[in-house]
Amino acid sequence: MRGVDRILSGHPWIYRTDLIDDGGAEPGAIVRLVDRRKRFFGQALYSSRSQIALRLLTREAREFDRNYLAERIHAAASYRDVIAKGAGACRLVASEGDLLPSLIVDRYGDCLTVQTLSQGMDRLKPDIVEILKEQFTPRSIIERNDAAVRALEGLSEQTGVLFGEDVSEIVVEENGLKFCYDLRGGQKTGGFLDQRENRAAARDYARGRMLDCFTYSGAFAVTLAGRCESVLGIDSSADAMAMAQRNQELNNLTNIEWREANCFDFLKAADQRGERFDTIVLDPPAFARQKSNLESALRGYKELNLRALKMLNPGGHLITFSCSFHVSEANLLEAVASAALDAHRTVVVVERRTQSRDHPILLTVPETHYLKCLILRVL
Ligand code: SAH
Repeated sequence: MRGVDRILSGHPWIYRTDLIDDGGAEPGAIVRLVDRRKRFFGQALYSSRSQIALRLLTREAREFDRNYLAERIHAAASYRDVIAKGAGACRLVASEGDLLPSLIVDRYGDCLTVQTLSQGMDRLKPDIVEILKEQFTPRSIIERNDAAVRALEGLSEQTGVLFGEDVSEIVVEENGLKFCYDLRGGQKTGGFLDQRENRAAARDYARGRMLDCFTYSGAFAVTLAGRCESVLGIDSSADAMAMAQRNQELNNLTNIEWREANCFDFLKAADQRGERFDTIVLDPPAFARQKSNLESALRGYKELNLRALKMLNPGGHLITFSCSFHVSEANLLEAVASAALDAHRTVVVVERRTQSRDHPILLTVPETHYLKCLILRVL
């Protein structure tokens, strides 16, 4: 009954331990969900390997066929016309958030990237490609199934061209600036689309000397540079720094400097040197990939935020993030409050934000709310 209760509570996953009988389902099959008394509860994607044995597709009895799939993709994309209007790049289909569990489709200009992250979605890949061609007439569809989670499904990591041109680099606009994305080799599917709205929001506060830690291809640095005297962008990846340089050039900006370094080391040394900034962005990778890492993750967030708060001039802003689902907003607020006390700074919470709206948060699915953003002002 636990599996059914979960579905009734609005969560789309059933764990293997709650499965009574798989009915001989093939890996990745679309199956009918029934309880012990054979009452129908919906249709789901079955995985023979993952702890998440079933991912709910629909509570309806209507067959989940190609037309149904096409309708869901169309609905997801149509909503982007409302909430991501004019964005050069955005997430068209965001997995559970668009009722298409484990399917991710991102649009970069006239190119699409696709991730099918479960056995079931992977089996639907040929249909998905055809539907994307019909609905969007893209120049190219690139597979970015080089995601580690595929291993949990017994699926191999693979990338390649599913349709059209072998596009690697593409330049598109975001928040009125140009950005290049490496669709074949960049992190995630090319970029961190979930930060688009936060970059626009952060720009309102940008001024003076800015520091962008974990800058990747320089998206925050480039977006905010027009409002700042000087910007320093830091990342440990040499490839990222090369892309950041390219993004700076694409926008004819001359006030940004890039440095390949470990941000923890840099922040410690800069703090000890007594450096000062007016705007600091901290956008680290997920520190708590598992719940068991929560405590050490919070120590990491505290350390970063402590250094940053110490280095901010009065009136300066810290834009700080956690993209770990296991770190709640309350956890992050607590870590930052503790950092502020240690740094002897009085801090105003100016904005509390989350991921861009093209990465929808489902009310009854906490896992879909992963990104936390605090915009803070130091008095
Ligand atoms: N702010 C970026 C996204 C950052 S993703 C954007 O808006 O697009 C996190 C980045 O942190 C990655 O580019 C990764 O290379 C970098 N990174 C991870 N650990 C790091 C460390 N210890 N020091 C510096 N950079 C690190």
